[in-house]
Order: sequence, then structure tokens, then C-alpha cells
Amino acid sequence: MKFEAIARETVLLDPNNNLARKHIPNEIRKDPLTGRTSRICHFRELSWKKPDLDKLVAGTESWCPFCPDKVLKVTPCFPEEIIPEGRMTLDDKVLFPNIAPYDRLSAVATLGERHYIPMTDIEPGRIADGFRLALKYFRHLEDIKHPESVYHLISWNYMPASGSSIIHPHLQVFASSFAPNFLREKLNAARAYTDKNGSNYWDDLVAAEKAKSDRYLGKIGRTEWLTVFAPLGAVGDATAVVEGIRSTLELTDPDLNDLAQGLTKLMAAYDRIGIYNFNMSFFPGSSEDAHARFHLIFSPRIYFNPAIGTPDVAALGRMFGESVCMGFPEEINKLLKIEFE
Ligand SMILES: [Zn+2]
Repeated sequence: MKFEAIARETVLLDPNNNLARKHIPNEIRKDPLTGRTSRICHFRELSWKKPDLDKLVAGTESWCPFCPDKVLKVTPCFPEEIIPEGRMTLDDKVLFPNIAPYDRLSAVATLGERHYIPMTDIEPGRIADGFRLALKYFRHLEDIKHPESVYHLISWNYMPASGSSIIHPHLQVFASSFAPNFLREKLNAARAYTDKNGSNYWDDLVAAEKAKSDRYLGKIGRTEWLTVFAPLGAVGDATAVVEGIRSTLELTDPDLNDLAQGLTKLMAAYDRIGIYNFNMSFFPGSSEDAHARFHLIFSPRIYFNPAIGTPDVAALGRMFGESVCMGFPEEINKLLKIEFE
């Protein structure tokens, strides 16, 4: 396993110090699997100031389609050939088709009746039940032998900087025969890795990170938690790899609890440095992909300039697919690890 980091340095004349020479380090890191690069740069103190979140969410309940008084009235239903009852439920959680679909089977699942839940108040049981409801839908698609039941994806956009347009916590639940770009790229690279090395990339990654320990977080059940060497996020990424399984449908009930528990640990840790937005996505293989290993990625989101709502992805990220991380993942690991000890 090769963790390649290319150290760079910029020299400039500092306007805040009589134009004296200033040396600013940065690093280009290559993802060991795909070779995709991330820039570790724009270093700053890993601490942000949260806005008044009660003020931010005030009034959004009145038009929220996922609140209990509206969810069964204003959300769409599946046609009878997919789900005869129209929607699926698990206690107070509701799953229905996405009104703005990006493929034949994109759905949304609410995480219960509560409109706004501060990140650190989201209970592991609520998240695990959201996953359970999504899996109920995926298993149903398997039962009816739907041709799109190949990759079973769950994503979570939490709060506006993540791209979410609705405050009410909900999951994007998506089954497709077309793996999205990053997943496809990873699966192709993992197949090539297995062909070359005779082993599974993620098994080797966990073993290498565990041995080295400065990006290892801990183990919950059979879920292994790590900070990512070459992250997508401006404040790093964390990943959980589930031992021995390749697809979403192989996740057991205890796995769902363990993934949910680990996610709440990450939320607690990132909350301490003022983070209140994140993306989370499942990266599974199909049931046939022996080279795959189920993993999820948690990626916090920030505003580069909160005062004018500047997002943390600009041309470099959007047009070149190059990410910028404002701290070394090994330093971010220290902030997260407190929760895993
Ligand atoms: Zn709501």
C-alpha cells in the first residue's frame, strides 16, 4: 500500500510583515486506490464559529414537506408495480419517490417527525432505523427483480452547506444499475488491484492503517473507522469499512447499529470544532463484485465565507475534481479519535 504525498512550498513576500519572504507549505496526496489527488493546503486553525442555528431554521417548518402534518399529503407515491401501498414506513419514518428523480428508482426517506435536530442530538437508533427503512425498500426491489436493483446507495445531505434544500433530516435512497462516477472509478480500480495483488484493496487498506495508527480511529463490531489519506472534504473525510461484505444488502442489523453509532461519534467530534453540515454516502459493490468492500464516507462541509454564503467547492473542485483539505488528515484524526477511545 503506497501513501504518496508530494510536499510543495510556495514562497511569497508577505504584505503583513514588511514584504519579508514567507514559506507556505502544501502537499499533493494521491489516493492509494484511484490515484485521484487532493491538495492539503490553505491551513488554518480547525475551528469554525456556528451561526445561530435556531434563527437559521426558524420558519422553515411552515413549508416543510417532510413534517408529519404534510408528509403523507404532499409527497409522491410509487406506482403499484413498484410499491402497491405507495410509500413505505418504519415507525414515524416515511420513504417515498424523489419528486426530482435522477434515475428510475430514486427515493427519499425521512428520519422521523422531528423537523430540526441539532447534529449532536441525532440518536444512533434514529439513523439505524433510517437505514433499515432504506434496506426494506432495497430488499423489496430485489424481491420484485427490478433491473435497477444493482447498486444500493444511501446518501445523507445534512443542513444547507451539504447541498440540502430542506432542514428536516432525510436520506437519499437510490438504486441504480449505473454506479455514479466516484463509485465506478473505485470499483474499477479495486478490480484491477485484486487482479494484480490477489487481495481486496479495502482489507489491505484497513490492515495498513491499523498498523500505522495515525489515521486509524477504531472498530465497532465489524466496522473499521479511519480518516482518509487523500480526502474530498475541506475538513477531511472519515470512512467506515465493513469487514467481509461487498454490497449494501449484506449489512446485518448489528452492522446498521454500528455504522449509526460511529457516525454519531464523528458528528460529536466535528461539532466540537464548529462543523454543522455534512455529506455521507454508501460505497457498495454489487452482489457479484468480489473485489468490492462495503464502505461509507462521512465528509463535513463548511462555507469558505459564511457571511456571503460561499460554498467550500470552487472551480478547482467543481471543474477539475481536485479537493482542498485545510488540515493534515493525521491532525484531524486526533480531533476525531477522542470519540473512539
Ligand atoms: Zn419538517
